[in-house]
Amino acid sequence: MLEISRVRLQLENQWTISRNSSYYKDNVIVKFEKDGIVAYGEAAPNNRYGEDADKTIDEIEKASFLLEEDLFQYISLKKKIDKTIKKQNCAKAAIDMVVMDWIAKFYNITLYQYFGLDSAHVPATSFSIGIDRPEMIKEKIQQAYEYPIFKVKLGQKNDEEIINVIRTVTQKPIRVDANEGWKNKETAAKKIDFLLDKNIELIEQPLPSNMNEETAWLKDRFDIPLIADESVNTTKDIPDLREPFDGINIKLMKSGGILEALKMIHLAQTFDLDIMLGCMIETSVAISAAAQLASYARWIDLDGNLLINNDPFSGVTVEAGKLVYSEKPGLGIEELQNNVNRLHI
Ligand SMILES: [Mg+2]
Repeated sequence: MLEISRVRLQLENQWTISRNSSYYKDNVIVKFEKDGIVAYGEAAPNNRYGEDADKTIDEIEKASFLLEEDLFQYISLKKKIDKTIKKQNCAKAAIDMVVMDWIAKFYNITLYQYFGLDSAHVPATSFSIGIDRPEMIKEKIQQAYEYPIFKVKLGQKNDEEIINVIRTVTQKPIRVDANEGWKNKETAAKKIDFLLDKNIELIEQPLPSNMNEETAWLKDRFDIPLIADESVNTTKDIPDLREPFDGINIKLMKSGGILEALKMIHLAQTFDLDIMLGCMIETSVAISAAAQLASYARWIDLDGNLLINNDPFSGVTVEAGKLVYSEKPGLGIEELQNNVNRLHI
C-alpha cells in the first residue's frame, strides 16, 4: 500500500523570510506498507525550487513500483528512483525516507543505529525567528527563552534594527540567514561589518546563489563562517563551494533524501566544509529523518516542526535546544491518529 496525502500545516506565527510570507504550508505525507511494516516519508515543496504540492504528488505517484521492489537493495533502488523522479526533489526525499524507515524498522533499530551513528553527540538546534516588525521579533525571542541559539532571518533594509532590538533582550548566539536577500557584495560587506561584534555565529547565504565569486570576495575579507544554503542542493554542487563558503546547509528536501545527504556529508568532509543540517517547514516525519544524521553536523537547525501547531506525527522533540530521540525504530515517528485525518485536504 502506498498512500499519499496532502496536509495543511498551520504555522504558529505568520512565517516571513526575504522571499515570501505565509500562514500555512501544504506538505505531502507518504504512508507505505509492505510485509506488515508501515513506513513514512514527507515532502515539503518549496516554491524557491519550483515545487508545489500538486506537482509533488504527481511525482510521488510514479514511485508505486516500490511495492514490487526488494527494498534491501536500496542502493540500486536509489538509481531507479533518481531516474523516475526527475523533478521535485522533495518528492524524491519522501520516497527515500519511506525506504530507509522501512529498512531500519525491519531490523527493529533506529536509522541512526543502522548507519552506525549515535544520538548523544549532537549539537543543539537553533530556533528560527522569521522576518517581522522589530517589537514582534523581540516578543518571539522572549517567548523562545529556552532555546540556547537563535537563527534570525535578515535580508531587509532594517536588518540592523532587528539585531539591535534582539540584543536589548538577549546576548545568546545568533545565526543570521540572509536568504539571498543582500543583492550585491558591497551591501553584504556593510551588513557583515555591522554584525561582526554582535555575537553572530555564522551567516547563511549572504548573496544570491549565482554569486559565488562575490561570496568568495566576502570570505576573504571577513572571519565569520559563511554557509551555503540556496547555493547547494545535491552532491554535484559541492566542489564549486570550496572557495566561497566555509560550510554547507544540507536539507533532505533539497538533496532528495537521506542517502544523497550522506553522500553530500562525505564529500563536504573531504573538502573541509563544515556541515549544517537544516530543514523547511516540516512535520516530525522529515525532521526526525534529518535528525538521524545529526551527529555528523557542526550546526543543527531542525526546528521546522516547532513552528507548526498541528503536527500530525510525534517523533524527535527538543528540550532546551537539545534533540530528544524517541528511540522507536526507523525514523522514530508515530502517526497521531486523531490528528492526521483532520488535516487531509
Ligand atoms: Mg537558509
